[in-house]
Amino acid sequence: MATPKIVLFYVFTPLPDPEAIRLWQHTLADSLGLKGRVIISKDGINATIGGDIDDVKQYVRATKSYAPFKKADIKWSNGEGDDFPRLSVKVRPELVTFGTPDEITVTENGVEGGGTHLKPGALHKLLDERGDDVVFFDGRNAMEAQIGKFRNAIVPDTETTRDFIAEIESGKYDDLKDKPVVTYCTGGIRCEVLSVLMKNRGFEEVYQLDGGIVRYGETFGSSGYWDGSLYVFDKRMHVEFGDGVESIGHCASCDANTPLFVNCENAECRKQYLRCEECTANGRQPLCPDCVQSRGLAEAAPELAITSS
Ligand SMILES: [Zn+2]
Ligand SMILES: [Zn+2]
Repeated sequence: MATPKIVLFYVFTPLPDPEAIRLWQHTLADSLGLKGRVIISKDGINATIGGDIDDVKQYVRATKSYAPFKKADIKWSNGEGDDFPRLSVKVRPELVTFGTPDEITVTENGVEGGGTHLKPGALHKLLDERGDDVVFFDGRNAMEAQIGKFRNAIVPDTETTRDFIAEIESGKYDDLKDKPVVTYCTGGIRCEVLSVLMKNRGFEEVYQLDGGIVRYGETFGSSGYWDGSLYVFDKRMHVEFGDGVESIGHCASCDANTPLFVNCENAECRKQYLRCEECTANGRQPLCPDCVQSRGLAEAAPELAITSS
C-alpha cells in the first residue's frame, strides 16, 4: 500500500432507509478495497475506514456526495497499512450503544438539546475564564483513560458505553450538576449523545469537546491539557500528540510507563491490561491484575475465592 490513511467521521441526520445506506456504503467501500467499521442507524452514520490514500479520498468524495452526509467532518490520520482486519458495515438501533435509542432526537441539524460544542480554542477560553471550576468528564470506556486523559478528568466506571446511564444516575456525580462539565471522547460522537443524557438527568451546564480528543491533539499537540496517549480502535492501538510523549499507563508487571494493552491469557477472562514490550517479550505476567489477585486469593484462602464455575 502506497500511503495508508485512516478516516474517522460521523453525521447525525435522519435516515429513512438505513438498509439502503448500508448496501451503498458496503458496495462503495468494498469496491475501493477499504477496510474498517461503518455503523448506520435511523439517526445517521459513524465510520472508521482505512486504505490507500487515493481510495480513501474517493470514498470520502462519494460519501459526501449524498446530501445528508455533506457536512461530515472528516478526521484524517496516518495508518500503517492493513489497519483493520475486515470491512464491516452494519445497521444498528443506535450509532453508539448507550441503550437509549429513544432518548435522542435527531434532525438535519444534528442531535437536539446536546451540550454546547466547544472547539479546542474555545475550551481553553473556558478554562481561562472558569479555571478549576471546569470539570472534564471522560465519555469513553474507563480502560481507554488508563493510558491518557485530560488533566484531573473524572473517569466514570464503565466497561462499555451501556454502563454510562447507571453511572450518571448513581448519585456519584451529583456534586457536578451545577458545575461546568466538559464531556470528551475520541472523535466527539459519544459526547453528542452523552451530553443529552446528562442534561436530561439534571446536569445544568454541559459542554462537549467538538471533534473530540483527535482534533484537540491536532490543535495543541502535547502543549495543552491532554496527558499521555490516545487509545484508538485500529492496529495502531494508541497515538501520541508529539515526540517523546509518554503514556500515563503503567505495566502491570514492572510498572514502567507503557501504552500497550494485551489480553489476559485466562480464556474465561481475556480482559485487556497494560504490559510493556519488554515484559511481554520475556513472558512476564500472563494474567491480568484481577486474575492474579483472585488466583492469589484462591491459594491463600480458597473458601473466599471468586470462581468462574
Ligand atoms: Zn513491564
Ligand atoms: Zn484476567
